[in-house]
Amino acid sequence: MAAPIMEFEGVDKFFGDQQVLYDIDLSVDEQEVVVVIGPSGSGKSTLLRCANRLETIRGGEIRLDGRSVVDANVNEIRQQIGMVFQSFNLFPHKTALENVALGPRKIKGLSEEAANEQAHELLDRVGLAAETGSYPGALSGGQQQRVAIARALAMEPRVMLFDEVTSALDPELVGEVLDVIEGLAAEGMTMMLVTHEMGFAREVADRIVLMADGRVVERTEVDTFFDRPETERGQQFLSRLL
Ligand code: ADP
Ligand code: MG
Repeated sequence: MAAPIMEFEGVDKFFGDQQVLYDIDLSVDEQEVVVVIGPSGSGKSTLLRCANRLETIRGGEIRLDGRSVVDANVNEIRQQIGMVFQSFNLFPHKTALENVALGPRKIKGLSEEAANEQAHELLDRVGLAAETGSYPGALSGGQQQRVAIARALAMEPRVMLFDEVTSALDPELVGEVLDVIEGLAAEGMTMMLVTHEMGFAREVADRIVLMADGRVVERTEVDTFFDRPETERGQQFLSRLL
């Protein structure tokens, strides 16, 4: 039996007076890929950001390996929960290799040699072995996003969170990034990802979580969701895609 790595229990989130997450219950098992979908403004990004402690929650609990994320050391959480965003946020004056090696050196205390060796391996894994010495400005958006993924992997996280990581890319660059994520899924990385790429979601997900208005309205095994969603919201969401 797979054990849950991440658990959300009764999570409530407010921005000022506005409640944006309502009583979220959700768990992600070891090696599971959970794809979060839903209309813009439904709270998908906020949910991932709460997990990574980029936002604070008002009520409920978020756990990683059974331990409270809310009470934990924030740097430890960010090591164990890797996150990749729509914007790559690479250091422009550092090479791809330096961008990937920096975290392990500064935060994990790896030697320069060990961090560089690991960065080489990770850049190779995301298909960028030839670009280790390139600066972000010389790389395409798809390449920069793959460096960002390698950088997150360098911390050896327990879980990876991806928030619409292909939304800012030119269409012809989307596939190379999705391929990397599919490769991670195949290797057994536990992931939560938000995406509008429904073909990809169907390909990579074990489970689909549909959010609307700050609530989880459906969580269903992936094939069930796309063949016959269990809720009316699910049916509506799918019918709008056609
Ligand atoms: P999604 O990712 O599904 O599009 P978000 O999580 O970004 O949704 O947003 C959920 C709700 O929270 C929206 O109503 C949005 O306007 C609001 N929101 C998001 N971030 C902030 C913020 N920093 N301050 C105030 N409201 C925010
Ligand atoms: Mg979002």
